[in-house]
Parts: sequence; C-alpha cells; structure tokens
Amino acid sequence: MGINQKMYELGNKRSIIREIFEYSKKRGAEIGAENVYDFSLGNPSVPAPKEVNETIVKLLAEKNSVLLHGYTSAQGDAGVRKTIADKINRDFNVGISPDLIYMTCGAAASLSISLKALIAEEGEEVIVFAPFFTEYRVFIENAGGKVVVSTPMEKTFQVDVADFASKITPNTKAVIMNSPNNPSGVVYSEETVKAVCDILKAKSKEFGHPVYLIADEPYRELVYAGVSVPYLMNYYDNTLVCYSYSKSLSLPGERIGYIAICPKMQDALPVYLAVCGAGRSLGYVCAPSLMQQVISLCLDAQVNVAAYKENRDLLYDNLSAYGYECVKPDGAFYLFVKSPVKGDAFAFYEKAKAHEILVVPCDDFGVTGYVRIAYCTAKEKVLGALPAFKNLAKELGL
Ligand code: PLP
Repeated sequence: MGINQKMYELGNKRSIIREIFEYSKKRGAEIGAENVYDFSLGNPSVPAPKEVNETIVKLLAEKNSVLLHGYTSAQGDAGVRKTIADKINRDFNVGISPDLIYMTCGAAASLSISLKALIAEEGEEVIVFAPFFTEYRVFIENAGGKVVVSTPMEKTFQVDVADFASKITPNTKAVIMNSPNNPSGVVYSEETVKAVCDILKAKSKEFGHPVYLIADEPYRELVYAGVSVPYLMNYYDNTLVCYSYSKSLSLPGERIGYIAICPKMQDALPVYLAVCGAGRSLGYVCAPSLMQQVISLCLDAQVNVAAYKENRDLLYDNLSAYGYECVKPDGAFYLFVKSPVKGDAFAFYEKAKAHEILVVPCDDFGVTGYVRIAYCTAKEKVLGALPAFKNLAKELGL
C-alpha cells in the first residue's frame, strides 16, 4: 500500500518559479546578487504600513497574551469579522453580516475552502480565465473539480465573452475571476464584468442551479492611475470573494485573509455552512489569532502603491520603447511580455537569462508565448536591468 502518488508528485515537482529562484540564489553567489535581475517571485517589495508593525507591538504589550495567542472561533473572531463586514459595507454597500465571513490563512486557503465547499461531485467543472494563477489547477483538482480554461482576447487580455459562453455547461459549478490579474496585470473592465455576469445569470436560469462566481482578490488595492476594480457582489448575487492581506498590506508570510459570501446569494447560509465544513475538513480553522486582531485595527492602512507604479512605468515605457510587446498593466505588480523569440516563452527566458535577467515563462498560466516580469523589486533593480533589456532587444533585432 503506497502513499498518495498525486500528492507525492505535487511535492516532488518543483514549479518553474521555484527553479528560477534556486538558480537566482546560485547565480547571485557567483556574480553578486546585485548583478542578477531576478523578476521571478511575487513577493511584495514594499514594506507593510507603519501602523501594522506598531499595532503588533501595541497588542503584544497591552493585551492578555493567553487570549491574544489563543484559539478564536473556527470561522474567526466575531469582533474581527464585524469590523471586516463594516468595512466591506462602507466600501461597497452590499449589506453583508459578520456571519457570512470566514477568516482564512490567505487567498490560497480561501480558494481551497471555497472550491471544497462548492464542488459536490467528482468532475464538476470550474472555469478559469487565462492567463491564470497556476495554483488554481492544484486547488480545483484537489477539490475533485475539473479545470476548464477560457482563452482571453488577444492584446487586451480581457475575457473573450463568446469563448466564455461556449465553455459553460450544465456541469459548470463555478468560475474564478482574478482581477487585478496575476500574471497579466490586467484589471477586468466593468464592461467585461457585466458581460460575464449576464452570461452567468442566463446560464444559471437555464440550468436551474447557480453557477457560482469566485472573486480572487489579493491585488484589489494595487491599482494605478485611478482605475477601479468592480466589486463582483454588486454585479452577481452568487459570488464568493476570496480576499487576502498578503499583497494589500504586504503580509504574505503572516497568512491572513477571508472569504465573504454575498448576502443575496440564493443559498447563502448553506454555502456559508459548507465553507465552515470545508475549512474544518481541510484543517483551516482559526486563522492566525494575532493577525486577525492586527488587520481588524488596520483595515484602512495602505502600502505605498506609488513605488510599484514607478516600477511599472519604468518597465512598461522603456521595454515598449525597446520594441518589446507588453500588455499595459493597470494593477498588481506584473508585466506580461510577448516572447519576441518565435513566440516561444522558454526560448525568450533562456535568452534573457544569458543577460542575467530572470523572468517566468508563462505557458503553464494558460497562454503560450508570454513571460511574466514581477516588478515587486527595488527601483534600483529595475534601473539596473534596463540596459540589459536594451542589449537583449538589440541582440533579438527588435
Ligand atoms: N491568487 C493569486 C492570483 C495570487 O497571485 C496569489 C499569490 O501570489 C494567491 C492567490 C495566494 O495568495 P495568499 O498569499 O493570500 O495565499
């Protein structure tokens, strides 16, 4: 009797991003880390807001340490969930109650729990819009679902509505929408959101059961130049929002986020209870207690988004001028660049690597021929990399 082969394979197979990260460390030891332009990881480079650290110190000094570090309710502290519900209602006016919020260890847990709660039978389909965060495949399959990829519009990388409509079947249980998007940086426009939601409403009616919409929103606050991100609950009732403070407060290692269920969902209470059950069955109960308190006291804190915008502008403007074809990102901290090497992402990755530039080939993200540049780095790294990008462009004849 062997161990679970699927899990073994997941653990044994290093992701391409991990491979590049390991290479970056090795190369840095050889030529100096400052000479390696590593744009592979989506780890925030901007520090957490000052008030977050101050709040941690204050809580440690002032609160009863047994309570502070103790278990909360499985779904999260009631007071914390109230502050989050109030914040959601202030910002988006959806009338949510704390009893439709479930605290989690970040968006990865929020997604895993939501999928586990919704997928009733092996093989139910979940549609993802390419390009998509590669871990979706792992989360969906682990919950017993089947991944169905909807291909995007060329150049804009908005949803191709006709393609999306053709992918929905009576077996579709849910659709995941991630905006601002990893890896394209695209924010789905209100027009796109409305079109997607109209199709979801029509199909749910036709099939006689809801097709759920899962909004994956770790980058909601990272947007540039006044772009706003439509709040999906305001467009479609059967929505679950998977939120995380990993990027919005630069706290990825602290593992804190939540699931919010739209109060107008037709079966909101059973879905919430299924979320509680899925959290229980996966062992995702009682999200980090200290962090629950911290975020509830820092809900209006913001990271310095201007620093990401500066990097975005430097890279987008200069790379476009050098002749690269880039998707203009309105949010997150990723730039999606078309491979100028016969549309081959891996070949472009190798060519860039020879110039000490490390980018991520994105074929696994559901779109072939593109690489991702994660510009959540120091500005100096971006400035240092520009001449290398320019030389590479010359070498490639752009
Ligand atoms: N969803 C997307 C699109 C992401 O890019 C990430 C992390 O990079 C996650 C979910 C997981 O985030 P968390 O750290 O909150 O688990």
